[in-house]
Amino acid sequence: MKLENPPWLAKAQPVFALLEGAGYQALAVGGCVRNALFGAEVADVDISTDALPETVLALAQNAGFRAIPTGIDHGTITVVHKGEPYEITTFRKDVETDGRRAVVEFSTDIKDDALRRDFTMNALYARADGEVVDVLNGLPDLLARRLRFIENAFERIAEDHLRILRYFRFYAYYCDPAEGPDMEAIAAIAASIDGLEALSAERVGSEMRKLLAAPNPAPALGLMAQTHALSRVLPGADARFIAPLIEIESGQPLRWQRRLAALGTGEAASLWRLSKADRKSLENIHSAMEMPSLIEAGYRLGEAAAIDAMLVQCASLGLEPDPKVIRNIKAAAREVFPLKAPYLMDRIPAGKALGVELKRLEKLWIESGFTLSQAALDKMVEP
Ligand code: ATP
Ligand code: MG
Repeated sequence: MKLENPPWLAKAQPVFALLEGAGYQALAVGGCVRNALFGAEVADVDISTDALPETVLALAQNAGFRAIPTGIDHGTITVVHKGEPYEITTFRKDVETDGRRAVVEFSTDIKDDALRRDFTMNALYARADGEVVDVLNGLPDLLARRLRFIENAFERIAEDHLRILRYFRFYAYYCDPAEGPDMEAIAAIAASIDGLEALSAERVGSEMRKLLAAPNPAPALGLMAQTHALSRVLPGADARFIAPLIEIESGQPLRWQRRLAALGTGEAASLWRLSKADRKSLENIHSAMEMPSLIEAGYRLGEAAAIDAMLVQCASLGLEPDPKVIRNIKAAAREVFPLKAPYLMDRIPAGKALGVELKRLEKLWIESGFTLSQAALDKMVEP
């Protein structure tokens, strides 16, 4: 099997040449090879080599590349070429794992490196000429879109429980739900979910965000619910409305926060240590659901939050979204209240009373469907 010179591989040729020219191996690995084989977009290119990190650093610097010793102790040097960062990591081998952190040593054998990865489809390599190197026989799995742990699923999970969440994420992106998951994987996951408790909030949040951003995360979330992994990472979450949500949201921009809101609990904000911006957008969706109308929500909280709230409500009630309501929300989000404090100051002194009166008039204006004019509102002022 050979990759037909994809653009990312063509662009990386000088980085491969740097290592190969000095007699070392250089292979693209992991997500880039997997995605290229699936015909999916390749985001970043990771490279594996048998050269030691200090050798990689010296070779890169001598050749005039910008090189950063990102994680030199665990084997990674970042080499920048044409604005693109390449993480070059020395082959590694697990010598022992105590369940929390792996003790690794460098290796010159690609098979050692492959064996310490998570899934067979993530353990595929490609040489500079595109030749796929498959030391663990992962290619047949990938071609059948079968997501399988490398060798023993229980052991792979015990080494790092984040792999449970990675399983569901990759399942969401690359597997055919009609085929169903690998039963050995699901049994091992179901028996290991207690280990999810020990993961850091950041690692959980980062995986779950990516999972929720999949084109269709419903089957994976369904599996997470069945194995009780979902309630471990998000107590109170209910995945029932995700599938109907995915059905009705297709014309709208993809927003993982909306899917998260459809799980029905606001807990993720703190449990997954979401960023301030993500927290805010989740909060806005929940507030929009509690407003007297979606139109008011559109005006007060913006188009995205109000449309998200509408879609989540429709999904939970089994309704189709009304295009007219969507148009009205969008229009409401653009409305500007025509009265300003200075207009009222001849009748009400600046201060709290003025703010209260402005809010009262704004409410009436919203309820009028934004039709009350400035003059009409002005006549309604109660000093
Ligand atoms: P993407 O970048 O699209 O999220 P990826 O497969 O590149 O997918 P990364 O997290 O970038 O995922 O990891 C790169 C590779 O490193 C993986 O393909 C896998 O081989 C290995 N890897 C990453 N995290 C783990 C882990 N927790 N356990 C075992 N192997 C891992
Ligand atoms: Mg990657």
